[in-house]
Amino acid sequence: DAKKPAPEAPLKTAAGVKGGVERTFIAIKPDGVQRGMISEVIHRFERKGYKLVAIKAIVPPKALAEEHYGDLKARPFYPGLVSYMTSGKAPVIAMVWEGVDVIRQGRRIIGATNPLDAEPGSIRGDYTISVGRNAIHGSDSFESATIEIGLWFKPEEVYNWQFAHAEWIES
Ligand code: ADP
Repeated sequence: DAKKPAPEAPLKTAAGVKGGVERTFIAIKPDGVQRGMISEVIHRFERKGYKLVAIKAIVPPKALAEEHYGDLKARPFYPGLVSYMTSGKAPVIAMVWEGVDVIRQGRRIIGATNPLDAEPGSIRGDYTISVGRNAIHGSDSFESATIEIGLWFKPEEVYNWQFAHAEWIES
């Protein structure tokens, strides 16, 4: 059942609370894959100190893309958004990243939805010019992260592992 949320990520502190270890769903969209941005995106999250706990290439079935963007169903760009995600002209690189404040920090690393508002230094700010081809997705809250991880990954595809050097990043 694709709608069933994955088991909650191990959290050091309460869900969504500042300073808590969280998990977020990050996806490189087909335009980001076409443009050779996979290594750049992974690099930016890794160098920040975040931990990759799940990754796969997937052409999402239409139902998955529709569910993922369900809150945008009424918007005029919704059909185009779903067909862009599901075209298969390139897969989506779906990932789960873990670490302190990773949901909010992930949104900062990615930048604002519209590249015109995305700061230089953010991924969208540095690499994209069109809101309809903004290369990357990141969950915008603890609630959506939990739902999105559950939509895109089976529980056994998400790994619990610890950095040997965690005390130098998360203390
Ligand atoms: P975000 O991806 O930053 O969470 P939204 O949830 O508002 O932003 O929108 C989801 C995605 O829908 C955007 O990343 C973008 O790909 C697409 N989108 C949003 N607004 C537009 C628009 N005006 N025209 C085309 N696509 C849009």
